Amino acid sequence: MEYKDETTSISGSWNLGQWHWKHETAVLMQHFLASLKDKKVLGLKCPECGLVYCPPKPYCSCLSIPEEWVEISDEGVVTTFTFSGSWSYGGMEEGAGTPRIIVGVMLDGSNTEMLSQLEDADRDHVDVGMRVKVKWADEPQGTIEDVMHSLPA
Ligand SMILES: [Zn+2]
Repeated sequence: MEYKDETTSISGSWNLGQWHWKHETAVLMQHFLASLKDKKVLGLKCPECGLVYCPPKPYCSCLSIPEEWVEISDEGVVTTFTFSGSWSYGGMEEGAGTPRIIVGVMLDGSNTEMLSQLEDADRDHVDVGMRVKVKWADEPQGTIEDVMHSLPA
């Protein structure tokens, strides 16, 4: 990929009020989450450019509407990572002081990333390009939690 150290600006406006989306994000997510109960990861493929979105997205960066569900792998590569010592959200706090490895993962067959907590890994050996796999629960519940944890592959 060629890197350009310049910015291009195009003046104008788009009337997005004329657009009618065929899919609602909530409907797409329901289908995506339901497949997780069977330990299947689905992506949504764009008919125009072929990009596969996982998690699904109701529109593509080429402005077409992804419509084809495709099964993708539960293994992929780390695209980015960071380390966290604790987290709190909405009054909840978990494991303060517990080291965590948070990774961006692009599953094989997808062109987009998901966030995941990498487990059973040595933080000194985590790197971009590292192979990982989804850590499935024995009985997935059909929630995003089903794919929020990963293991080295
Ligand atoms: Zn597209």
